[in-house]
Amino acid sequence: MEAVRQVICSLSERVREETHSGMQTPHFFPLGEGLELTEMERQEDQLVLHVMATSRSARCPLCNQPATRLHSRYRRLVKDLPCTGQQVQLILHVRKFFCDTVECVRKVFAERLPQFVAPWAQMTTRLNQALQTIGLATCGRLGARLAAHLGITTSWMTIVRRVMALPTPPVDHVECLGLDDFAFRRGRTFGTVVVDLDAHQIIDLLPDRQAETAATWMGKHPEITHVSRDRGTEYASASSTGAPQAIQVAARFHVCKNLSEAVQRLLARVLSEMKAASQEGSGKTNTQKEPFASVEEWRPDPGVQVARTIATRRGERDARYQQAVHLHEQGRSIKEIASQLGISQRTVRHWFARGVAPDTRPRRKRQSDFDPYAAYVLKRWHDGERNGTRIFQEIAAASVTQAHNAWSIAS
Ligand SMILES: [Zn+2]
Repeated sequence: MEAVRQVICSLSERVREETHSGMQTPHFFPLGEGLELTEMERQEDQLVLHVMATSRSARCPLCNQPATRLHSRYRRLVKDLPCTGQQVQLILHVRKFFCDTVECVRKVFAERLPQFVAPWAQMTTRLNQALQTIGLATCGRLGARLAAHLGITTSWMTIVRRVMALPTPPVDHVECLGLDDFAFRRGRTFGTVVVDLDAHQIIDLLPDRQAETAATWMGKHPEITHVSRDRGTEYASASSTGAPQAIQVAARFHVCKNLSEAVQRLLARVLSEMKAASQEGSGKTNTQKEPFASVEEWRPDPGVQVARTIATRRGERDARYQQAVHLHEQGRSIKEIASQLGISQRTVRHWFARGVAPDTRPRRKRQSDFDPYAAYVLKRWHDGERNGTRIFQEIAAASVTQAHNAWSIAS
């Protein structure tokens, strides 16, 4: 039975060779050595090319020995580069051979066309490279749109996958290393970007910003002499563990950022203190705090530190608001003002619509143990009672009476 099958296969092989041997592969569409165009047809908007290998033998992928005994053929559909703007669909007539090497466990194998198409790939190597080039120059979605204009039908996901399939070049030698975090999803998931500061190139991306991950990476590079990092604790500990031999330096970007933030905070604090002092001088403030008018208005005292921070931030915002007003009076557009002050256009519009310094809204009230007694204290205050201890004693006495009544009812 096997012999009959073999005869049929070799006969059909000969017939096919004789039938198709006349067709020339067009010079404008080279297929590479060892491949021959046997048939060409047009289907709607694409060219369909039938291609077969011309070599008499193929090497077994397992034992690498040449084989000539034909087993069968099958058709494999592969997309190729477009030709004059038309999509090209290749139908590869792939042969299967018997491997006659006695020791080889592979009995039958399909011939490989390694220069032209990778095993199991659905597109030729050259189309794959074209998509990678497009993807690297643009991005997924833009790449897919550009490719459509060039006659390649693909999806953004395919382009992204093709780019991701590119191997990362190995990191050989790095002396001055830069570490910083970046966001995969802003505010949610972060990774670490590893930079060769001598070459000014990103050399790796780590999946998170944990100290252990960065330390493990640095541990493989004992040649590191300097680590430039932010001023957080994670990369500091990573550098100490992973590259104890290296000198750690604060990145220029972070030094400038921290410095400018500190100066801004200082100026805002000075501004708020100056404002308070001038109000005091003009007799605007009372040494005795105004009592709150209603229970809803009452807010727990935030404490000295928090109050100072709030005042500083408010001073900062006030100064910025004044700057915005000043720029607006000079005839600057909202866009210009926003970019100069480093805030969003929406914020600027919001400020001008309100026409007052921002953050004058009452802050959200926090829960407090005092809440149940606020109404009583307010009532006593309005009655003219100014002695805190006495009000406290009244509340304490009322609580005892309440508890006693509750106990009497229960028993
Ligand atoms: Zn073999």
